[in-house]
Amino acid sequence: MKKSQVLQAWGKILTGQFPSLSIEITKECPLRCPGCYAFDAAHLGGETQLRQLSDYRGDELVQRILALVDEYKPLHLSLVGGDPLVRYRELEILVPQLEARGIHTQIVTSAFRVIPPEWAKFKRVYVVVSIDGLQPEHDERRKPATYERILKSISEARVTIHSTITSTFASRPGYLEEFVRFWSGRPEIARIWFSLFTPQRGATDPEILTTSQRISVMEELLCLRRLYPILEMPEELIREIATPPKSPEECIFAQTTQTLSADLKTKITPCQFGGDPDCEQCGCIASMGLAAVGRHPVAGSLTAGRIFMASAKVGKGWKRAQQILAFRKPSSLGEAEPFTILPS
Ligand code: SF4
Ligand code: SF4
Repeated sequence: MKKSQVLQAWGKILTGQFPSLSIEITKECPLRCPGCYAFDAAHLGGETQLRQLSDYRGDELVQRILALVDEYKPLHLSLVGGDPLVRYRELEILVPQLEARGIHTQIVTSAFRVIPPEWAKFKRVYVVVSIDGLQPEHDERRKPATYERILKSISEARVTIHSTITSTFASRPGYLEEFVRFWSGRPEIARIWFSLFTPQRGATDPEILTTSQRISVMEELLCLRRLYPILEMPEELIREIATPPKSPEECIFAQTTQTLSADLKTKITPCQFGGDPDCEQCGCIASMGLAAVGRHPVAGSLTAGRIFMASAKVGKGWKRAQQILAFRKPSSLGEAEPFTILPS
């Protein structure tokens, strides 16, 4: 993260805004991946599920996304799903407009469909392809977006490979290196990222890593990043695997990102996983990246993270004050009623 971006983000936080916006632009996905958090029953808090929401398409989707972008003015936008490429026609219209607005946009997809080659010319548009391990495991988990199909879909594109490490991958010596070696040799690949599987609290998914697996994955990634520069994960970020936030309140990523679901109004909290995620087993690369930024000393024992968190409190207070002012109604005598402190 550049210094100028940190300062811009800080400015937004101080005024109660979110520097990052993530939008599930569709509820549809042709895949049925095991462990998918978007279609987990807890994702939207338990009362509704993603597939039950009404979503948009066509020009209405394009206009509504642009309206949200103009309202939130994010520095960084993630378009996720479902699979955003289900709405590829809409994306072909949206992407140039987002680039023209100067917004850094990340499109996260399974690459079940061809990535438009012309997106490679945009400076601020990044396509992230999710891959669940080496071909046998990936193809089993993510068909129809198999290795063969992905290789065709990205053949004229430039993409980031993102893989979520599960207990199965962590238990096989040399697995991660084999994965990095396979993808690092290809001209379409700009960088490789890893996350670790993040469960909901109390979950027993087979994907969950043990504590010792987390530590050995961390050590392996620290070695791999030196051998394969395409593994674009700084050492400080990787070391965050050992000390994830204890709660969403301690997570800079959760505090600085607004996530909206497919009806473009349901807010997903406390972070993109929704539900009640187990922060102490978190392995989300975005959370680790911002936690690493947050550890940078600013003056003495004061870190960037402590300034961000204090600013977020100030920003939320400022936003609440604005909302209170908006609720202020004239009394029957035509005078203003006293301000009311709304519950948070
Ligand atoms: S591609 Fe993504 S959204 Fe679709 S099922 Fe798989 S993990 Fe879930
Ligand atoms: S990103 Fe990870 S640490 Fe942050 S709130 Fe979500 S689960 Fe917790």
